[in-house]
Amino acid sequence: MNEKITVAIAGNPNSGKTTVFNAITGFRQHVANYPGVTVEIKEGLCAYSGYDISIVDLPGTYSLTAYSAEELLARNYIVDNHPDVVLDILDSSNLERNLYLATQLMEMNVPLVLVFNMSDIAAQRGFKFDIKTLSELFASPVVTTVASRAEGIDDILDAIVKLAKHGPAFAIAKMNYGNEIEEELAKIQLLLNSENDLVKKYGSRWLSLKLLENDPDITAKERNEEVIAATEASRSHLISIFGDEPATIIAERRYGFISGACQEAVQTTTQMRHDISDRIDAVLTHRILGLPIFIVMMYLTFQLTFSIGSWPMGWLESFFSWASVSITTHWPGGYDSLLLSLLVDGIIGGVGGVIVFLPNIILLFAAIAILEDSGYMARAAFIMDHIMHKIGLHGKSFIPMLIGFGCSVPAIMATRILENRRNRIATIMVIPLISCGAKFTIYAMLIPAFFRTAWRGPALLLIYVIGIVLAIICVRLLRETLLKGQTIPFVMELPPYRLPTVRSIATHTWHRGWMYLRKAGTIILAVSIILWVAGAFPRVSGEDLTELAGSGEANVKLNHSIIGKVGRAIEPVMKPLGFDWRISTALIGSFAAKEVFVSQMGIIYSLDENDFSRASSSAGQHNPLQEKLRADYTPLQGFCVMLFCLISTPCVATLAITRKETGSWKWALFQFCSLTAAAYILTLAVYQIGRIIIN
Ligand code: GDP
Ligand code: MG
Repeated sequence: MNEKITVAIAGNPNSGKTTVFNAITGFRQHVANYPGVTVEIKEGLCAYSGYDISIVDLPGTYSLTAYSAEELLARNYIVDNHPDVVLDILDSSNLERNLYLATQLMEMNVPLVLVFNMSDIAAQRGFKFDIKTLSELFASPVVTTVASRAEGIDDILDAIVKLAKHGPAFAIAKMNYGNEIEEELAKIQLLLNSENDLVKKYGSRWLSLKLLENDPDITAKERNEEVIAATEASRSHLISIFGDEPATIIAERRYGFISGACQEAVQTTTQMRHDISDRIDAVLTHRILGLPIFIVMMYLTFQLTFSIGSWPMGWLESFFSWASVSITTHWPGGYDSLLLSLLVDGIIGGVGGVIVFLPNIILLFAAIAILEDSGYMARAAFIMDHIMHKIGLHGKSFIPMLIGFGCSVPAIMATRILENRRNRIATIMVIPLISCGAKFTIYAMLIPAFFRTAWRGPALLLIYVIGIVLAIICVRLLRETLLKGQTIPFVMELPPYRLPTVRSIATHTWHRGWMYLRKAGTIILAVSIILWVAGAFPRVSGEDLTELAGSGEANVKLNHSIIGKVGRAIEPVMKPLGFDWRISTALIGSFAAKEVFVSQMGIIYSLDENDFSRASSSAGQHNPLQEKLRADYTPLQGFCVMLFCLISTPCVATLAITRKETGSWKWALFQFCSLTAAAYILTLAVYQIGRIIIN
């Protein structure tokens, strides 16, 4: 009968846990269901040098806090089953981040083997590990592997057997959290009774640490009043010293330990690049300068988008107005033809009106791609991390928000990286407040219509900033009411700066541009046709026409149409915001896709135009739609439209993905109603107050 060794595999997601597990167990595995746990755990067996090794593949986690089901499961599994050996699989090409979990396993005092997996990629990236020093620093054997090629698997098994047979070869490492924290730890530890079940189970140091960190699971279990009071006193003492949660400071100390260890035992041939990066970072991620620099960067991006974009935009406009005029003049039937109107008013007026903003979109995304590829966006996230934390969001929430500048749909999907559900829902709720590419189209139409060249960048920046500030306020509100809870500390990886490659920028930009065109050719085309029908029907008979004539022929037709009627029906509600029936109907259309606002304004103005004047209007006239907008509306109205579009209901696709990702209609409905109500109230306030100030 062989001796038994039990092993648990822990590690970050995608570090190669399952690959190691499969390499060790082959086909001798099955999925186990643990009571009350929905997360799957795989179990497997392997016989090796006279031992029966039984292994479980725990869910991947970045940390061992109690904030997500996976983390709590992994932690409880280790505490409850005390496996003989815990294998921590690390992606060694990303060592510092992966070591965070290792430090927490060390704190738990488990017999640990560190598996530096992905060592092929680490070598490619120029990392060299001083294995001996690292295993001393982390008080655990270190094995390097390439699990995907089954390299180093026997070394893992040897290390397991050796550790199980002979016990730890290193003195137990004790992480030092600094004097202040160590003192408080000692105070709490003194109060803990060694006969207490919790202490027996977790050990007094770990228990005190978790109490200081305000770990929800442990805090709920601790019943001793004296300990609870001492913990509270220690926590408030530490908060008064550091001005931050002890959990944050403790996490920083762990990262400090890791970065110190890596400084000592990891060499990289890319050191040079890191040094330069560090020097740039001293400025760009500066505590005080960081944020203003970020804002200036965004300002430049926006201003360039308009100034460079106006050239190709002019060409596209000339092309479309030339196309309308030539189609109209060469049309075989009369100017009255419905098909002609569909082509010129519906399709060129609607879809063409959206396509003219393609250059702006391309420029905006090229700029964002450059900022991203160069490594600057990661710094922006780093700067924002601090702010995010203050508002009660995880620093990682900034990543989906960044994606939100492109489109809310992938942004909401990206919230999956957030472990904490409340955090995640709060982030999903506010993502629509981040101006997406489609909303940008609306701004791109309205801003040049109402603002002088020098003010265009600032105006755009203002509307983006309003969205971000509102998002922050809403998160704060949510986190203090419906979605109360703590946030978890997190460290942002800062990749070294790189010169972005033309190829990569081109690919990103092309992808965006193509998506925009495809959207224009599908959903926006379809909605434009529907809205054109709604604007052209029911047709006015000849007699009515003469009866109604007076304010211009086309106007009468539009008034008579479905659009006109719907628009006028809701006008009383929208009037206090400064919106007339035209804007109101376009806003309804924009629920399908935000760009439809632009196409709908194009269609309405195109239909509104006298049929004969269209034929005679000169091709190449600059910004026809924007000129008409300027004539009909005040800049205040223009701004209010942007504000309303920014805040009001997200598009259908966003609501659908919100429903899917939150798993309930409740949240989607909440998003729809609360954002629309907020948009109405805020726009009302801005318009009414603005009118008083301007008058
Ligand atoms: P898990 O999430 O930790 O279970 O990770 P997986 O075992 O599913 O591995 C994630 C991916 O990394 C898979 O595509 C593996 O083939 C790959 N992978 C695993 N180990 C290595 C390695 O040592 N080198 C390389 N290059 N790829 C690996
Ligand atoms: Mg896996």
